[in-house]
Amino acid sequence: MSVSLGLLTERIQQVQERISDAAARAGRDPADVQLVTVTKTHGIEVVESAYLAGLRHFGENRVEEAEGKITALSDRLPESTWHMIGHIQSRKTAQVASLFPWVHSVDRFKIARRLSDAVAETGGMLNIMLEVNISGEASKYGYHLAGWPEEQASFQALLEDVRGITSLPGIRLHGLMTMAPFTDEPETVRPVFRRLRQLRDALQERLPAYPLPHLSMGMSSDFEVAIEEGATIVRLGTILLGPRNG
Ligand SMILES: *Cc1c(COP(=O)(O)O)cnc(C)c1O
Repeated sequence: MSVSLGLLTERIQQVQERISDAAARAGRDPADVQLVTVTKTHGIEVVESAYLAGLRHFGENRVEEAEGKITALSDRLPESTWHMIGHIQSRKTAQVASLFPWVHSVDRFKIARRLSDAVAETGGMLNIMLEVNISGEASKYGYHLAGWPEEQASFQALLEDVRGITSLPGIRLHGLMTMAPFTDEPETVRPVFRRLRQLRDALQERLPAYPLPHLSMGMSSDFEVAIEEGATIVRLGTILLGPRNG
């Protein structure tokens, strides 16, 4: 499925207005909210249209699919920045490190260490976030923090990994990422976003010298609430590109 440049431009304008309004409601600067366009399942012609319409950050959740697109497009879309937002198997870490400058979905220390090893060979720098399962949904990946703050052991385990990750060469940890349960009623997931921010704040308090500015949270159905709760990166697919293929 494709999307015309005119329609895309219109949708981007509407989304940017909604981002600005949500930021204003929270007394935030809309420039502090980065839009990542989720292009999974869409063909390279859709990414090209999105780029022509002014979008620069693109998110993919599967390595094989991303590799084809990124390889085909990196020369043609020189200002594009690619974000890995899907689950990472440890045998794919070298591929992930070579394709993506940003990885939102690191969910265990082993993945961070293997990404670091891969990056160390090329002397590069990888920007990562840690995925957190804060809602407790069984279907979600990420560090399990659903019981926090009552349950402190999960926080201590996360803190220990964060400390380890901040000393890995080639890795810059920027903050946390989460996916809220799908909902038609965004207010119901506000507590998920609020708790991710509080979790980031709690980590930051323990690591004052290592800035953790980013919260990657908010999708098509809930990005305004996420921004009101402090999202610095929203990951939007359907609302910009229409329904996904397959
Ligand atoms: C697919 C996906 C999105 C985008 O979802 P939409 O509802 O289409 O905006 C965002 N984040 C992740 C991790 C995804 O897999």
